[in-house]
Amino acid sequence: MHDAPAPETSANRLWTGLRRGLRRKCPNCGHGFAFNGYLALRSQCEVCEHPIGEYRCDDAPPYFTIFLVGHIVVGGALTMEQSMSPSLALQLSVWLPTTVILCLAILPFIKGAILGTQWAMKIKG
Ligand SMILES: [Zn+2]
Repeated sequence: MHDAPAPETSANRLWTGLRRGLRRKCPNCGHGFAFNGYLALRSQCEVCEHPIGEYRCDDAPPYFTIFLVGHIVVGGALTMEQSMSPSLALQLSVWLPTTVILCLAILPFIKGAILGTQWAMKIKG
């Protein structure tokens, strides 16, 4: 399934950018990959030659990843504490690896979403 050309309204453009970014695709065309590896952006799209490398996500992807994972882990740890009252060692053995795995798994997709948002709002450099 191919995405339609970029819509003109800013709300549609934002949703298009977010959807394409969450799939780690080029926000401009939705076909080429935006990433060159785990987190590195390509200098340009291999399909439409959009200059993806000009977008600077900086600290936004880690910030939103920590925000999201923190709510999951703290909520889970508090629920586990209230329902089971496990030992501290058990809590740490569950929630420390969960935190690391969730952060590493979510971060590239959050970065793609930030890239799509920047594309939608025409924020470069
Ligand atoms: Zn493209």
